Amino acid sequence: MINFFEDGHFMIPYGKQNISDEDIQAVVDVLRSDYLTQGPMVPEFEKKVASYCGVKYAVAVNSATSALHIACLSLDVGAGDIVWTSPITFVASANCAIYCGAQVDFVDIDPLTYNMSIDSLVKKLEKAKKSGTLPKVVIPVHLAGQSCDMKAIHQLSEQYGFKIIEDASHAIGGSYHDTKIGSCTYSDITVFSFHPVKIITTGEGGMALTNNQSLVKRMARLRSHGITRYPEEMTHIPDGPWYYQQIELGFNYRMTEIQAALGFSQMSRLDSFVSERHEVAKRYDQLLSNSGIKLPWQDSQSVSAFHLYVVRIPVDHASLNRNAAFDNLRIGGVGVNLHYIPVYKQPYYQAIGFDERDFSESERYYEEAISLPMYPGLELIEQKEVVHLLTGSAGYQTIF
Ligand SMILES: *Cc1c(COP(=O)(O)O)cnc(C)c1O
Repeated sequence: MINFFEDGHFMIPYGKQNISDEDIQAVVDVLRSDYLTQGPMVPEFEKKVASYCGVKYAVAVNSATSALHIACLSLDVGAGDIVWTSPITFVASANCAIYCGAQVDFVDIDPLTYNMSIDSLVKKLEKAKKSGTLPKVVIPVHLAGQSCDMKAIHQLSEQYGFKIIEDASHAIGGSYHDTKIGSCTYSDITVFSFHPVKIITTGEGGMALTNNQSLVKRMARLRSHGITRYPEEMTHIPDGPWYYQQIELGFNYRMTEIQAALGFSQMSRLDSFVSERHEVAKRYDQLLSNSGIKLPWQDSQSVSAFHLYVVRIPVDHASLNRNAAFDNLRIGGVGVNLHYIPVYKQPYYQAIGFDERDFSESERYYEEAISLPMYPGLELIEQKEVVHLLTGSAGYQTIF
């Protein structure tokens, strides 16, 4: 038996970090060094991620939420502006616009990929153009680590004049056609999260990447109180070597050296994390074939980072029911989850006023989806147990 609760924790969680002895040593080395913050590790980590992704600049911060906030600010999102994102995402993808005083709206998802639907985006843009309510920024979210159709979104951005922030919180290590996610080939800024359930971790942490020098300068300034030490950004010649200027309202969104050292060390295993996630996905695909459960569709042109393995139990499934399966898994000690409750259904967003009838695909998704446990190190025997609890029978376990 492997599925007992221990101290209220699931025996098989939906996601879990992977920490090696090298990671621990990297953190200890920083603790023994001169700098716990604002030292050499943050720029080292930024350089490592930027070169991995094939992007010019990176700004490490204390969360992806902070990265989304300063990304919006650097694109001058403010009062009177509109930002669009996907409803099937974590609330932070939408909240970042509201922090800036802007309005948020949502574009329904694609029934195959569960990412922002290009058809819905085109229709919504045509309508918004007529009513003078075009978005300033669109934030596509690479759900589960699979890239959105960035070529199409980029083409629309040129046609309708909006900027693009990719919320790639799920997607470091993945690729889109022949580019790494994070390369910003089809966007202004890309954001990663390093929360422990994500692909690599720094405990808490995030990063904003861009190829645009003025955007990176602005984001670096906003990360640290809006303060600059560059004379060329100041209103007059520095008073002396001590001098700095606060030239706009920023925040303390800095990442610590401890976090950066952990992230730097994790980067060396990023590719193996992603390939292990693909192994886990392949085993689920086999265990669940012929189950009538809808498995995650994969774009053959791209490589998902496989942050999540989302299955859908169709509402008209012959024998299975999503809610019953969910209960069965949780009672059996499996930490299944639902990514995500459509953001417009949250009371905070309901108070702003959204009509669920505008998002029929998101509504259907919310009725059918379950995220199964997915992380490197998840073993076949555990996956069999998950599938057993999910399907209520051993019928799909005979393949191995
Ligand atoms: C995790 C996540 C975030 C927020 O990341 P934090 O680092 O926890 O702030 C934002 N967007 C998406 C899609 C996420 O999954």
